[in-house]
Amino acid sequence: MKKAALITIMLLAAAVFAMSLVAKEKPAKEMKYPQKYSELTEEEARVIVHKGTEAPFSGRFVSHKQDGTYTCKQCGEPLFSSDAKFDSKSGWPSFDDAIPGAVKEIPDADGVRTEIVCANCGAHLGHVFVGEGFTDKNTRHCVNSISLDFEPKEVDDSATQETAIFAGGCFWGVQYHLDKAKGVLSTTVGYIGGKTKQPSYEDVSHHNTGHVEAVKVVFDNRKTSFEKLAKLFFEIHDPTQVNRQGPDVGEQYKSVIFYTSDKQKEVAEKLIKKLKKKGFSVATELIPASTFWKAESYHQNYYEKKNQEPYCHAKVDRFQ
Ligand SMILES: [Zn+2]
Repeated sequence: MKKAALITIMLLAAAVFAMSLVAKEKPAKEMKYPQKYSELTEEEARVIVHKGTEAPFSGRFVSHKQDGTYTCKQCGEPLFSSDAKFDSKSGWPSFDDAIPGAVKEIPDADGVRTEIVCANCGAHLGHVFVGEGFTDKNTRHCVNSISLDFEPKEVDDSATQETAIFAGGCFWGVQYHLDKAKGVLSTTVGYIGGKTKQPSYEDVSHHNTGHVEAVKVVFDNRKTSFEKLAKLFFEIHDPTQVNRQGPDVGEQYKSVIFYTSDKQKEVAEKLIKKLKKKGFSVATELIPASTFWKAESYHQNYYEKKNQEPYCHAKVDRFQ
């Protein structure tokens, strides 16, 4: 019994000791980038690991001016904001400030300068100099481009991009004119307003799916407006024609604005009123936008690809 008890105690002690070892092995602070650091090329390693210096004016970020964040080439940690970048004419990217805590300063082996390294992974970045008077902060982080990567600032386009959908006969011609308008970012031809999903050109032409040929226009509302584009729409097709447009006859060629907001509907109503006052019996319908099905690729930018002018649509002033 005594022997068995002793063995139990010894086993327990061993287990506790082993556990304490495991506990000690655990790093005090969890690493931010547990994955392996990026593999470096020979030239990157010469600078980043062996504290070399790239030739002045040779790096990709010397006169780089985009908005965003410069990150550590080796570990990806954000190091410098583009707001802190200035032109020192030194030939190396220069920053008058680092992201707080991102850069560590250590005395250089030369006994004179102050080296800067990535605080997260120790990658050599360059040197820091103070008192040169370049900016108010009086500091220049002189960094090798090769030690850096860059993440451009994400621009939120949702506030400046708007979509409008116009149907005015053969979509080739409508796209041709709208695509050339100022402020238009993209145009797509497709089908909208019908019953079936993913209709083909064939379906829309012959099977009474209820779809019409339409053009989806994405535009920058700082450079143009729905009103300007809608006016253009009314001038590049004849809004008085019913279920046809020029030589193209059929419900799929009727004139419709598929509005994407109440504001667009109001503007369209206002323009139709104006045209009616001028004597045009406008047949254009206003319908809330539903799913827009992109047409087959051979229909996209048809006239551009063929290098032709549309047979079906030409601009006629109607608001003068
Ligand atoms: Zn790093």
